[in-house]
Amino acid sequence: MRLAEEGMLCSLCRKRAVISQRYLGRQLCQDHFVRDFEGRMVQSIERSRMIEEGERIAVAVSGGKDSTALLFALARVFAGREVELVAVTVDEGIAGYRDDTILAAERIARQLGIEQVIVSFREEYGYDLDEMVVGSEVAPCTHCGVFRKSSLNRAAKRLGAAKLATGHNQDDEAQSVMMNYLKGDMERLMRFRPRREQPGLVPRIKPLRDLPEKEIALYAILNGIYFESRECPYAQLALRADVRDMMNRMESLFPGTRQRTLRGFERIEALYKEGWGQMELAECRECGEPCVGERCKACELLGRLRG
Ligand code: SF4
Ligand SMILES: [Zn+2]
Ligand SMILES: [Zn+2]
Repeated sequence: MRLAEEGMLCSLCRKRAVISQRYLGRQLCQDHFVRDFEGRMVQSIERSRMIEEGERIAVAVSGGKDSTALLFALARVFAGREVELVAVTVDEGIAGYRDDTILAAERIARQLGIEQVIVSFREEYGYDLDEMVVGSEVAPCTHCGVFRKSSLNRAAKRLGAAKLATGHNQDDEAQSVMMNYLKGDMERLMRFRPRREQPGLVPRIKPLRDLPEKEIALYAILNGIYFESRECPYAQLALRADVRDMMNRMESLFPGTRQRTLRGFERIEALYKEGWGQMELAECRECGEPCVGERCKACELLGRLRG
């Protein structure tokens, strides 16, 4: 994979370019791209103080390219430092899709010598995702998101992790902002980036949030860790799929659209900070996980499943 046209040269050293970053108006060769990629991730980490020396960080690794690249890049930039990484892989129970990615997650953890734990919906909640969605009016991705979040939080707590890192990239972040605009959901939009810690909730960090998905794929390929995973069979049912196509079209017509969407959101967020205070979370009366109200979303969905 090469994201630059034939004959393009690195803007910094004049070697053959592997990528043209139109939104930054420059091209980079392999060495400069890899160095810049890791540097930008470190910048995001430092700017938001995502990781401190001495911390144990749970990294959600699905086996897809983003989380694989995240684990690899974190292992590289924190090598020799007092930061311990543990990989957490969630098996949602999606037939014909997750088995390969779980193997890929095991492979990358082993290659990097990082401890890995696998948690499954079946073990944690008694059902595979495939079972949960049969005859349900609730969308598969809603089930998946709620139980994945909860499984990851529970696993991170059991591991004594200070933070939970996920592989969300700039595309995901811009899509989430746009989806909340389209749904007119200001509540959720303003809760998108929590500002303070809540009891029982392991703080989530997104070290790749300023990096475009394509560049993450290129980073994975150049480092020999790319794994082409199949698309989840439920993906096309989600609003996100349409928003993703629209944002990709806009980005190619108007480079920098994603970055501007996120910057715009940050400005709105800064303006409305006071008006949209973060809700106090309580403990779910059934499972003890943090939630809004008396019962967490996972227990609510489980209640429906059990009839
Ligand atoms: S597409 Fe939906 S169901 Fe599939 S893994 Fe993603 S969130 Fe889960
Ligand atoms: Zn160069
Ligand atoms: Zn609960």
